[in-house]
Amino acid sequence: MYTDLKLFIDGQWLNGEGRKGEDVVNPATGKVLARLPHASKADLDAALAAAEKGFKVWKATSAYDRAKLMRKAADLLRERAEHIAKVQTQEQGKIFAESKAEVMTSADIIDWYAEEGRRTYGRIVPGRQKGVRQIVTQEPIGVVAAFTPWNFPTLTPVRKIAGALAAGCSILIKASEETPGGCVELVKCFADAGVPQGVVNLVFGVPAEVSEHLIASDIVKKISFTGSIPVGKLLAGLAAKGMKKATMELGGHSPVVVFGDADPEKAADTIAAFKYRNAGQVCISPTRFYVQEPSYNKFVARFVEYAKNIKLGDGLEKGTTMGPLANPRRLDAMESIVNDAKSRGGKIQTGGNRHGNQGYFFQPTVITDIPDDSKIMTQEPFGPIAPIVPFKTFDEVVERANSLEYGLAAYAFTSSSATAQAIGDAIQSGMVGVNSVAVSTPETPFGGVKESGYGSEGSIEGLEAYMNVKFISQA
Ligand code: NAD
Repeated sequence: MYTDLKLFIDGQWLNGEGRKGEDVVNPATGKVLARLPHASKADLDAALAAAEKGFKVWKATSAYDRAKLMRKAADLLRERAEHIAKVQTQEQGKIFAESKAEVMTSADIIDWYAEEGRRTYGRIVPGRQKGVRQIVTQEPIGVVAAFTPWNFPTLTPVRKIAGALAAGCSILIKASEETPGGCVELVKCFADAGVPQGVVNLVFGVPAEVSEHLIASDIVKKISFTGSIPVGKLLAGLAAKGMKKATMELGGHSPVVVFGDADPEKAADTIAAFKYRNAGQVCISPTRFYVQEPSYNKFVARFVEYAKNIKLGDGLEKGTTMGPLANPRRLDAMESIVNDAKSRGGKIQTGGNRHGNQGYFFQPTVITDIPDDSKIMTQEPFGPIAPIVPFKTFDEVVERANSLEYGLAAYAFTSSSATAQAIGDAIQSGMVGVNSVAVSTPETPFGGVKESGYGSEGSIEGLEAYMNVKFISQA
């Protein structure tokens, strides 16, 4: 029912024979699902050579033919969505409905990039002298090394694979060792669609060893990483040594601003549902909630009611509305956040504890009366804890919302179009949802500012991230 975990190098699926490896665990039960093989140094070198060869073939393939193969992969992903969703739920914990939505969105991302890859237009700039043609064109960067985390096993890899392939690049991806199955299934779709050997390669291993080896290779021309800020800084440093382009999609600490003119209960329903998606383990998860004073009590009451109604359980069981945390590190982090909040006078309105005695479950939690310098208000929780605090004025809330070094996503609720425009402009963030949480779609740029990283995925910016601009002056 789970999946056979393998490496994929130069069009071949490789199993664990003679290789080191690690167990993959179901976070709902703590039981081992399968053994994951690690790539040896020789495997990594074979993958690099394959990607170099694959790049030559893929670059020479027309954008039209690349798009056809990519769309086929997207269709296979849709056909296999039920199975892949089950694989993801077992390894990562998110509920089946979310898991399936992730797979279907991943297929849409492939389709979007496939189409957009056919529109990588250049331009002709009038020359200063008669007869001179000035051509601006775009070329695929080359071999991409990508590294993805455990919270979205299919979605984070697909953004990188589809972006690279649409641009004409080949890719070597190291997906998460904790949730490898989603990416194995995704790569299978590309392989079964007929993408040529060496164009997509998948490896696993000890993250620091694999990333150091791949990024140092002359074959790799572009790095794309999604994960934590400390690891992002490390990889950006390795990329800088070889002056390699990098896209860094790192952590966030999204502020939510609920103005007094918004319907507090409607806002609470919308944002609480978004908060507890994937048990809060989402980089754009709403994190700090600032509510203007007249609406504060109503908002808190409704949010707490929502949290209390969540049904915790195995994501494959019917009726479950929130699954476990993905690993025991997150449980420890939640306990440390709650202890810090309590020691600072924070009031636990609901939750605050582990749930059950198997797996890594933590209760949906709401904390109030918490100072701005507490852990939950300053460090990315990546879990189901929501701190809600009051504010008085626009300027005050903007200052508080912009006070951290994170800048990935932000949300605001208001019924005034003037306030909507003002808050959208004032927040320092890569993405702002005003009366909306739809900040991540295939067609729109996804990425952060400040320490949340640089570069965008999705949209035309996401495609440009895999291309070099070239100017040809022709006399
Ligand atoms: P972590 O920093 O150890 O790892 C984050 C991810 O980076 C993991 O997938 C890991 O396998 C990978 N990684 C770690 N070291 C690496 C290296 N040297 N080279 C390449 N990849 C490497 O943290 P964690 O305990 O797995 O997650 C905790 C924090 O990570 C969360 O609190 C959150 O801030 C952040 N995170 C962010 C995202 C995101 O979508 N931006 C996703 C997952 C985790």
